[in-house]
Amino acid sequence: MTLVCVKDLHKSFGDLEVLKGVDLDVAPGEVVAIIGRSGSGKSTLLRCLNQLEQHDGGDIEIAGQRLDADAMAPSDLSRNVGMVFQSFNLFPHKTVGENVMLAPVVVRGVDKLEAARVAREVLDKVGMLEKFDAYPAQLSGGQQQRVAIARALAMKPKVLLCDEVTSALDPELVGEVLRVLEALAEEGMTLILVTHEMKFAHDVADRVVFMHHGRIHEQGDPKTLFNHPSTPELKQFISAVL
Ligand code: ADP
Ligand code: MG
Repeated sequence: MTLVCVKDLHKSFGDLEVLKGVDLDVAPGEVVAIIGRSGSGKSTLLRCLNQLEQHDGGDIEIAGQRLDADAMAPSDLSRNVGMVFQSFNLFPHKTVGENVMLAPVVVRGVDKLEAARVAREVLDKVGMLEKFDAYPAQLSGGQQQRVAIARALAMKPKVLLCDEVTSALDPELVGEVLRVLEALAEEGMTLILVTHEMKFAHDVADRVVFMHHGRIHEQGDPKTLFNHPSTPELKQFISAVL
């Protein structure tokens, strides 16, 4: 069974070919960590999956729905895909609860009572329920990122995309966010994460994908990949980051 199916994905920005034929199948409940040097196309891949970028070649299918660059409105897609970014982008003038309720109410037309119920449920999941009425500025970066994760979960995505969600955090705040992601993984959430946290990728991911110059250069289970990289490019990357 495949939840996310990417075939021969191509994406260019002007003359710059950023994705040069990416194939990636992700099973329901699978946790895939994407690693690779800056500029290798990791964010572009996630952004194509979330239709923040339109791909120019190849196919993407998520939960059986084919993403045609123009055939599907982003609101349809958002039923299946959630995304969390490096910068949390919470609305500063809205409370934590309001931030989490916003998309279900505005995009989905969920009534406010139900949206509040779901918001409490997902905030509880990330350990932020007690901050329901707080404003983002009153929270640490780690707490804000946990709220951003809850906000994505409130839309009940089938797959959650995370793009370097701990990179903007002070080191002492990274752990609390990774623990939330690990708990989601244990619960069976399908996760595709771009990360520089190699220990997390090693311990939590089912599969690690190494991107290099717009292609998947090497992939496999974390232990094999990290302990026995087969390409010189991955060897070099690992020795540079570990
Ligand atoms: P990574 O996330 O692996 O660091 P990205 O996917 O962000 O890599 O970027 C891959 C390449 O595409 C980089 O050279 C980057 O400058 C370029 N790029 C990304 N987004 C755009 C854009 N919107 N317009 C032009 N170039 C872009
Ligand atoms: Mg990136």
